Amino acid sequence: MKVMKFGGTSVGKPERMHQVAQLITKDNEPKIVVLSALSGTTNALVTISDSLAAHNREAAKQKIDELEAHYRNFILDLVKTEEARKKANAVVTEHFEFLNIILKISFSEALNKDILAQGELMSTKMFSVYLEEAGVNHKLLPALDFMSIDVNEEPQLSVISAKLTQLLKQNSSINLFVTQGYICRNSRGEVDNLKRGGSDYTASLVAAAINATICEIWTDIDGMHNNDPRVVDKTNAIEVLSFDEAAELAYFGAKILHPTCIWPAQQTKVPVKLLNTMQPEAKGTTIEEDAHSKGVKAVAAKDGIIAINIKSSRMLLAYGFLRKVFEVFEKYRTPIDMITTSEVAVSVTIDSNTHLDAIIKELEPFGTVEAETDQTIVSIVGNEIAETQDVLKKLFDSIKDVPVRMVSYGGSRHNISLLVDGKFKKDVLQAINKGVFGL
Ligand code: ADP
Ligand code: ASP
Ligand code: MG
Repeated sequence: MKVMKFGGTSVGKPERMHQVAQLITKDNEPKIVVLSALSGTTNALVTISDSLAAHNREAAKQKIDELEAHYRNFILDLVKTEEARKKANAVVTEHFEFLNIILKISFSEALNKDILAQGELMSTKMFSVYLEEAGVNHKLLPALDFMSIDVNEEPQLSVISAKLTQLLKQNSSINLFVTQGYICRNSRGEVDNLKRGGSDYTASLVAAAINATICEIWTDIDGMHNNDPRVVDKTNAIEVLSFDEAAELAYFGAKILHPTCIWPAQQTKVPVKLLNTMQPEAKGTTIEEDAHSKGVKAVAAKDGIIAINIKSSRMLLAYGFLRKVFEVFEKYRTPIDMITTSEVAVSVTIDSNTHLDAIIKELEPFGTVEAETDQTIVSIVGNEIAETQDVLKKLFDSIKDVPVRMVSYGGSRHNISLLVDGKFKKDVLQAINKGVFGL
């Protein structure tokens, strides 16, 4: 059985949905198809939710009406028969009735999650109506029946696997299933989600849960590129990446993949393929256990980083200092990305300001604490790059005009990370494209 996930742009237009139907019916291999919301929908739902949280019901209502008009138009080109249009419109009516009802209830975090779930619920139900019209035998599998996260907001693979296996067993005559990406239930049984871009994570979790032959992530580009194509002009698709390399690129900003979506596939050794819905014949990127070749593969950038520097003469020759520092971050469940130390100072980076004030307050007894926001981590990723000749020289030669705030090298055989002020991101990515990749 294989998993095929289609992102927002791959289902964002009626003709794209038709194309998806063709791609999933090309062969008879049993499949679970994971769909995102139509492109733009989750952003619109976030705006609606934010407006409600800010007590701006008028703005929320306007956005809801705009979105509904978009869906009504979408249906006209998605399906042709009167019966199918009626069914698709009934789906849209049901979900927009919900959105209109929430205008009247007081906002809460649980409600926010319910609002955000509407996109994937609608896209999959509308796609199912289209498949039915096209005479494609399939079953809609509600993600809320099997996808769950625990109290720490972590998906529990064994629980998901048990539930999904049971559901597949109950439907053993079906060989095409469609389900929602992104949405899940939390430990309280409420609707929740796997964070923005989380449909990739759903796909990888589903693939691992059923031990799929392959997890295909279909998107709007022909694979993982060596650099961010939104920022840099000349970029190339990479043919093969190891799980470790792909995980580092996803974590350090390559938007094509959700930051943590590689681990389930890696754990169960299910290969992942990144493919282009608009150009299905392109090779794409294969992500698997073996990295195949040594050397630098790609660079990615992660924005919105905060650097925290703790300076203290008490650190000199002291032990236990770092432990105390780390305990503060542990207490606030804030992961550290980069770290550098000297005899009298330690610098760390975090990517969330949620608990920044509290963290700084608790660090202050240890020494002088400074925090700098709007920093960017630039990560060069590859296989055994530490041993690759000249890579450091080429890297630092290419960015010699940019002040580098921190460097992390040697912690992993796959990664060299630099911290620069966010305003230098574009220059740095372009310079590395030329100096390191020769593009
Ligand atoms: P989907 O809606 O299919 O999930 P995303 O927008 O989440 O698609 O991811 C695809 C986009 O990721 C591409 O259109 C591209 O602009 C962006 N991207 C950022 N970095 C990279 C990279 N290194 N390689 C490929 N795409 C990248
Ligand atoms: N629809 C969700 C989002 O836009 C999940 C996804 O597309 O992966 O973040
Ligand atoms: Mg995505």
